[in-house]
Amino acid sequence: MIPGPVMVAPRVLQAMARPMISHRSGEFGIIFDDCRTLLKEFFETKNQIAILTGSGTLGMDAAVGGLIGKDDTLVTVTNGKFGERFTEIGERYGKVVPLAFDWGKPFDLSRVEEALEAGAKAIAMVHNETSVGLVNPAKEIGNLAKKHGAVFIVDGISSIGGNEFKTDEWGVDIAITGSQKCLAMPPGLAIVSVSDKAISALNAKSAGYYSDLKAHLKSASKSPAQTPFTPAVSLFFALQEALHMAAEEGFVARRDRVAKLAGAVRAAASALGIEFFPEINEHSGYSNTVTAMKIPKGMTDDKLRGGMKKQGVVVSGGQETIKGKIFRIGTMGVCSEADVMKTLETLEQIMAKEGALSKTGSGVEAASKVLRP
Ligand code: PLP
Repeated sequence: MIPGPVMVAPRVLQAMARPMISHRSGEFGIIFDDCRTLLKEFFETKNQIAILTGSGTLGMDAAVGGLIGKDDTLVTVTNGKFGERFTEIGERYGKVVPLAFDWGKPFDLSRVEEALEAGAKAIAMVHNETSVGLVNPAKEIGNLAKKHGAVFIVDGISSIGGNEFKTDEWGVDIAITGSQKCLAMPPGLAIVSVSDKAISALNAKSAGYYSDLKAHLKSASKSPAQTPFTPAVSLFFALQEALHMAAEEGFVARRDRVAKLAGAVRAAASALGIEFFPEINEHSGYSNTVTAMKIPKGMTDDKLRGGMKKQGVVVSGGQETIKGKIFRIGTMGVCSEADVMKTLETLEQIMAKEGALSKTGSGVEAASKVLRP
């Protein structure tokens, strides 16, 4: 029950056991095209799609490295670990104006506008900040980016396919996801959508060789469609199967189901007197793919997560400065109602055992009401 890598359905695992094919063959091209067609629907975009062999961070690196040369400026807006990664990547390539808010606190949009007024080639943010369970305002920042002519990069790695994410409507020029999150497949693919505006701005001489988005898009437009270098072919088999599985459920239906699961987790937490870690406001909300909660009073991270693990339920802890202070429950991909209920039952049992139930309400009961109203 961690926020990625998530559980993978047997049919997706089986797809990876298929015999190897050439990545220059027509057979591969058909799979690649099928994936890109479904991914456009998944991303809600008409933009071009590149599929890179590597984890989500490779997509972030490809976007920033392709756009930001040593004389270019990138504004980064951050309130958690993965936003800060954009700052670190940007510093490798060019100039960065980092707008760092406290972890888990909403962005101040007036400061974002001020930063853009000073002139920047691009602005980067994380939509669903996995480290703190907060959904950041991509639509609002997209409007600001457009107004100031900046290329808009959004890390949707733990968001696309789980939270609402409208690439074209929000003006996202480069949107990124990773295979091990809402697509519910193993780690190893970074998927990136690229607008025409971003393509014409991808001219940094320092762009990575392996991660050069222009080269990836050029190869993808060949017949048969290809990647510039040998990709992880088995992961493409998995991607095709995972996308068909999600399409059979319905991309929107899957998102709605995940929202309900997260709603159940939040209802249980409230009934048990557990506080949420992130602060929300009118522009920022709780995530439907990962719920971040403070370790309840009277408990330690070790007792809570350690106790749950002994009963077969693995949830995540906090990272860096909030290590030991929070725990996180992931709800994405093929995670089921039964998985969520088992997790919440286990949490409640452990809290009861440690005498940490500050309220008399039952978390499991509150969650059931959300799942089966
Ligand atoms: N961005 C976000 C929002 C993430 O959740 C993660 C991973 O958890 C990453 C970036 C990094 O992705 P990867 O570990 O696949 O490189």
